[in-house]
Amino acid sequence: MNDSDVQLIVAPNPGPMTLEGTNTYLVGRDPVIVVDPGPEDPGHIEMVRAAAEERGGIGDVLLTHSHEDHIGGVPLLGVDPTVLDQGESAGPLTCLRTPGHTEDSRSFQMERTLFCGDLILGHGSTIVPPADQGGSMADYMASLHRVAGLDLETIRPGHGPEITDPAAKIAEYIEHRQLRERRLASALERGERSRMALLREVWDDVPEELLPAAASAMQAHLEKLEAEGRVPSELGE
Ligand SMILES: [Zn+2]
Repeated sequence: MNDSDVQLIVAPNPGPMTLEGTNTYLVGRDPVIVVDPGPEDPGHIEMVRAAAEERGGIGDVLLTHSHEDHIGGVPLLGVDPTVLDQGESAGPLTCLRTPGHTEDSRSFQMERTLFCGDLILGHGSTIVPPADQGGSMADYMASLHRVAGLDLETIRPGHGPEITDPAAKIAEYIEHRQLRERRLASALERGERSRMALLREVWDDVPEELLPAAASAMQAHLEKLEAEGRVPSELGE
């Protein structure tokens, strides 16, 4: 089976952080595998169910991670998800653990196609929350490096359009985070100890209303640097 037998159904997803809605993918047929049923939206789930019926019914339901906009529709769909561990397969899809956005984040590879959930998005950059919100920047970077080693033709993300230049996009994602990390580390090395000053210096391209999100991203970066012994203890507000 190859990428030509993938059907995308985009869920309507009102909310500031979810771009144009969650992508639900139907893979193969007789039976079909559903990747991310999407949010608890009866109209969307009905469309998924009808499309799945036309493709011979649902075999497995796979989840990229446990955020509501990806899994909220599971009860409405009425099929228990299949939980795969690293290297396990359902039909043509093989699971790759890719934590960072959440601890339970998974990608699924089918030949040269990767269904990656919110590891990489079709537009912009994804959210990597600090540890108290379930994220890990260290895990996230390791996950990006892991998928960078795959020979991919297409990435099908959890939000936004298909990514047709996977190697370039993954490299861009890695470089984006490394640049923030380098700037943060050099400000710390210079002696800056105010969180607000660090935020305004390193996230100087971010509009005022997105500063709270940037502060959360900075916390995730600080936790990674701290684990590497690179953050001084006396950070202040
Ligand atoms: Zn998510």
